[in-house]
Amino acid sequence: MTTTLIWGKQVVTRITGTSSAEVITDGAVVQRDGEIIEIGSYRDMRAKYEVDEEIGGSNQVVIPGLINAHHHVGLTPFQLGALDAPLETWIISRWAMRDVDPYLDTLYCAIQMIESGITTVMHNHMAARLPADVGLFDAASQIVDAYEDSGMRVAFSLSHRDQNHLVYEDDEKFLATLPSELASGVRDHINARPITLEDYLTANAELLDKKQSDRTNIFISPHNVHWCSDDMLRAMSDFARRNNTGLHIHLQETIYQKMYGSRHWSKTPLGHLLELGVLGPEVSCAHGVWLTESDVDILAETGTAICHNPSSNLRLKSGVAPINRLMDRNVTVAIGIDEAGINDDNDIIQEMRLAQKIHREPGISSRSPTSHQVFELNTVNGSKITFFEDQIGTLEPGKRADLVLINMDRIEEPYLHPDTDIVDALVFRGKGLDVDTVIVDGEALLRNKVFERLDKADVIARFKDSLARPLTEREISRGALSKQLMPSIEKWFSAWPLETGDPHYTYNLAD
Ligand SMILES: [Zn+2]
Repeated sequence: MTTTLIWGKQVVTRITGTSSAEVITDGAVVQRDGEIIEIGSYRDMRAKYEVDEEIGGSNQVVIPGLINAHHHVGLTPFQLGALDAPLETWIISRWAMRDVDPYLDTLYCAIQMIESGITTVMHNHMAARLPADVGLFDAASQIVDAYEDSGMRVAFSLSHRDQNHLVYEDDEKFLATLPSELASGVRDHINARPITLEDYLTANAELLDKKQSDRTNIFISPHNVHWCSDDMLRAMSDFARRNNTGLHIHLQETIYQKMYGSRHWSKTPLGHLLELGVLGPEVSCAHGVWLTESDVDILAETGTAICHNPSSNLRLKSGVAPINRLMDRNVTVAIGIDEAGINDDNDIIQEMRLAQKIHREPGISSRSPTSHQVFELNTVNGSKITFFEDQIGTLEPGKRADLVLINMDRIEEPYLHPDTDIVDALVFRGKGLDVDTVIVDGEALLRNKVFERLDKADVIARFKDSLARPLTEREISRGALSKQLMPSIEKWFSAWPLETGDPHYTYNLAD
């Protein structure tokens, strides 16, 4: 049995209100074999327990592990050659992205996430983008294995779709509008890795059967409402309910996706999911930028959660999700980086800061999230949507010991007013680079900025080596195909006059 005492000048155990937290000054957390045994003053804990080791520092703050509630891949699309653009064209420009080794890509990203204080991630991986030379289960296992090797907690989902691959209408109908040579190249591309619904469910059954670490949960993921047939949505939802996996789906990320609902079902995509019986507390939806007031009611009534990705929504011109309205209605909201983040890295502390700033609506009496509320979204709410709620999110006896130690030197120097609340200090001034030590299940994955499980230099060198080759024929021709197709995609969406209505937030007026 290993007993550790983790200490700091302050221990933030949990958020207690919109502007308050339980903070123990000169505090310590005692963990034994991954479970938190007791929390108290350093002096008392030191006197009471014989410990194998002590981890901490006199200018460090101990907080619960942070949770990235929506994430896809390691190397960002920008790194791989796809510049930010509106989602509908961006997904086509992503065809130009290089093929990467999923195992190394995941390890690379786990390194970035751990370094910024992320202990748990909701990883959502497009099944069709996995290497085609191995079976779906084996390919997906490479990612799960990488997380298990990294020591992080993961809620892993394979996302899948069966329609509207190009624009928001039937593929063949759109292909018929293209010159025949371009159409056949595009058809070959979208059929390059055919995956049936049965293949998908079988691979997920295998993932569930495979012995998983306690740090891994498997989720089911229809990619987005308009990208899945009703049969697929129902089958995935049934599978998720039968296996208690939870379901993660993209939702109303852009105005075009909301408009697709109006055109096809005379209701929003969320309204359509309600009608299909898919919603519930086990369902989390990424984005929800274009939610209507009645959508907010549906989320509140069904207990369905939203994973908010502010950086991504700015980068892809999606808009600003109505998080203030969701929080008014006690909808569960968690925060994700959606693989890139405003600095094109995976710094969850900066994402927390952006989430706090972007919802500051003009007006003396308008509401906006406090640091404490945002901190809660990144801890407790993240634990709910990843199905680790009973184990993590707060520091308290009986929970698992997932903790982060943050150096306060850069945050406080040369001066920070002594009355500054510690949660405000972290959310206003913290960065991933202030993270010193990251512990999951009582195990230090990063200690004094040095990885204990992973050999960072070796992973980066191997990954760099795997990418040192010139672009392959396949990668070059995919890039050319996407460029050739792009004007037709832009033209198709340009023909949709954008819906108008009252915004949830008013940032400025034209007259
Ligand atoms: Zn996403």
